[in-house]
Amino acid sequence: MQAIRKALKDIWGFTEFRPLQQEAMAAIKEGRDAIVILPTGGGKSLCYQVPAITLDGLTVVVSPLISLMKDQVDALNECGVQAARIDSSLTPEERNQVFHGIHNGHIKLLYVAPERLMMEGFIDLLKQVGVSFIAIDEAHCISMWGHDFRPEFRQLGQLKEIFPDVRIGAYTATATEQVRKDIAKQLHLKDPCVLVGSFDRPNLIYKVFPRKSINDQVMSVIQRHPKESGIVYCIRRADVDRMSAALVKRGIRAVPYHAGMSDDLRKQHQEDFVRERVDIVVATVAFGMGIDKSNVRFVIHAGMPKSPEHYQQESGRAGRDGLEAECVLFYSGGDYGIWKNFTREMSDQARQIALDKIGHMYNYCTTGLCRHRILLEYFGQRLDKDNCGACDVCLGEVDFVKEAHVVAQKILSCVLRLEQRYGSQYTAQVLTGSRDQRILECRHDELSTYGLLQDCQQAQVQNWTEQLIGQGHLEKGGEYNTLSVTTSGWQVLRGEIEPRLVQPMLKSKPAKRVAQVGQDQWQGVDRGLFESLREKRAEIAQEKRVPAFVVFGDAALRDMARKRPSTREGFLEVKGVGQAKAKQYGSIMIEAITTYCRDFDVSLDPEDCIPI
Ligand code: ADP
Ligand code: ZN
Repeated sequence: MQAIRKALKDIWGFTEFRPLQQEAMAAIKEGRDAIVILPTGGGKSLCYQVPAITLDGLTVVVSPLISLMKDQVDALNECGVQAARIDSSLTPEERNQVFHGIHNGHIKLLYVAPERLMMEGFIDLLKQVGVSFIAIDEAHCISMWGHDFRPEFRQLGQLKEIFPDVRIGAYTATATEQVRKDIAKQLHLKDPCVLVGSFDRPNLIYKVFPRKSINDQVMSVIQRHPKESGIVYCIRRADVDRMSAALVKRGIRAVPYHAGMSDDLRKQHQEDFVRERVDIVVATVAFGMGIDKSNVRFVIHAGMPKSPEHYQQESGRAGRDGLEAECVLFYSGGDYGIWKNFTREMSDQARQIALDKIGHMYNYCTTGLCRHRILLEYFGQRLDKDNCGACDVCLGEVDFVKEAHVVAQKILSCVLRLEQRYGSQYTAQVLTGSRDQRILECRHDELSTYGLLQDCQQAQVQNWTEQLIGQGHLEKGGEYNTLSVTTSGWQVLRGEIEPRLVQPMLKSKPAKRVAQVGQDQWQGVDRGLFESLREKRAEIAQEKRVPAFVVFGDAALRDMARKRPSTREGFLEVKGVGQAKAKQYGSIMIEAITTYCRDFDVSLDPEDCIPI
């Protein structure tokens, strides 16, 4: 373990392990096979990169995505590690150079796509040079039970036979128990060490709002993150185009991304985002696979995704560096309808599964329970604290309706009085006492429930109705989404169940309360210096033509702006600074720090700096 700790500090500049990293590294070091399941941002790459450095011989990393390989290799080279990749984008000379490096034992980590690895000539080469470890990234791709099966992964099942003495590690962020077992079986792993991390992402702050004037709502989130990277997801391509145009018009550096655009343009926009030439990508679900950008500070959903799996994956692209990030979802009852419509063509079984996921997602939006808890329980895990301190509900930003059961009973009774033949909008109109022609014609103004909630806004009542649907007390059905009272709805009417209703916040409040995680992470950090170091980093990245986070992560910059080192030794104390980076960038960064501190009269090397 000593070698591992030393590599972690010297090369990556980290002194502590993230949960399960130590166990994952130890298993490989000891020669065992391993299956490691950590959420996005959990630090999977280090689980194979660190032992790879400390083992004799070559480590082969199998990865399905060229863009991801490239970033990882760039990042390793920046840390002074000899890593290379072989893929179709290399020129023949570059490829020869890599082969040469493999032959003479220069290269420690080699990234390849599965189909290339399994080519006969390639296997022969690897046999000659001696492989000590094979790491398989995105390992769920091998299983048909996963959500992203790739046939080319299946051939990897032969690896154990070809290299019986080589340890194999499989790494993924998503795997149910079934997929996990299938990974072990398909790869013929020998008594693997199985490590499953918590799926909770405590640094993500989840918030949910009913959608109202979406452009303003999205702007208000963006304004909390000036010059920071973020993603805005929309359901439809047309929404993407509209939203990105609206943002650009308001002076935001945003680009659109969806499958209807040409490959070239999509690629360019993705690059612009990763290289920080723009701040925001507005996209459909088509965006995100293989985006290994660690400093995404917020992910906004302008519409409700169709499953908690999708939400977890898309929102999970925020805050991979472990620093706080915001995940804000704007929903409306209409989103539920859109997704439901998509299920029409499905077979009965597939439809049921899809509807169930839509229902769970809707429930997430509407229940007013801790968002972390709901997501985690959906994935079969428990939250080990009462207050997560990182969602709108736990932060007290959501106002609960005091007499929720009375309000709920009024709504449910009205649905019954309307003979369960109308939708949520009409029901809300009746409850608020609207003089709409249709209501008068149907003489619904004579119902006993007419005007029962006349002091409330119609949008508010409609949202409460949606909340009751999300909690399963009401059901939408038929072509016109007519409401009906469910069994649990009857229990509410009889007073046997206490429903929870939240006051719909029709506007995103300025974050008056900063989450607990946020406060800690900014403690002692000079924000001005942080900003100026960000600019310095952008300059370096531009010059070297690598993504900014490959030079330094946000966490490292914050720690620099906290420790404000004026010497090389001090600089090496910064989290995320290893030997190679200190050597390469130490003097530039120290100069930037000392200049800033002199100009703004900020102390250098503060002694009372609290280690975080
Ligand atoms: P994953 O592949 O699981 O999504 P990564 O391997 O990309 O996660 O790591 C996410 C971020 O966390 C990276 O910026 C990485 O440098 C950082 N990181 C990983 N392990 C540690 C650690 N032990 N201490 C501090 N930062 C870490
Ligand atoms: Zn919470």
